[in-house]
Amino acid sequence: MNNIPELLVASNNIGKIREIKYAMNGVTEKIVSLKEAGIHLSPQENGQSYLENALIKAKAAAKYWKGWVLSDDSGLEVDALNGAPGLHSSRFAGINATDADNNRKLLSNLSGIPENKRTAHFRCIAILYHSQVGYLLKGEGTCEGIITSSPRGKNGFGFDPLFLLPSLRRTLAELTFEEKMKVSHRARAIATLRKKFETMKPLYLAS
Ligand code: IMP
Repeated sequence: MNNIPELLVASNNIGKIREIKYAMNGVTEKIVSLKEAGIHLSPQENGQSYLENALIKAKAAAKYWKGWVLSDDSGLEVDALNGAPGLHSSRFAGINATDADNNRKLLSNLSGIPENKRTAHFRCIAILYHSQVGYLLKGEGTCEGIITSSPRGKNGFGFDPLFLLPSLRRTLAELTFEEKMKVSHRARAIATLRKKFETMKPLYLAS
């Protein structure tokens, strides 16, 4: 059975694109980002759920792309903040916030909260979409951790320097790329998506 010939990753986030390409390795003959496909868009992510936001991104990209699209939506859910920043993670500190701005705001909102109450998890929903058929498959993944009191590590992106994995005593930003891809919410979401896709492949790729 053939693979998907070409897949578009509907994201402008360089960190995410690298992870998605790695996690989807072998499923597609070719995988390209929006930038590589010459598509310039940043749709308003105003959905009420991660799935809705992933669909907004996939649909927007599919207007300019004929064929397979993968999109994801993700966020950090901090228990002491009642699940915030959640859906609003990328713009936690404002519409044009940088990762450093978001990290500063998170630390400030958690100041004075002891380590045993700084539990959090990342959540990711990844979907496979086809421009002619629409929404096909979903995979979900989470990653459990604790928010540190200062940033540690230089790898990764977003909240990685503040997200400590209790079993490893290292933040996601202190892991190598390959180590992060063994434990991350995105890697897990895509692994689930891949498993479902393997089952459905004869149907989807039948000529
Ligand atoms: P979105 O999925 O593009 O809406 O962005 C989600 C936001 O959540 C990112 O901008 C980051 O702030 C955060 N985030 C999601 N996944 C990760 C991750 O793997 N590491 C660090 N931060 C992440």
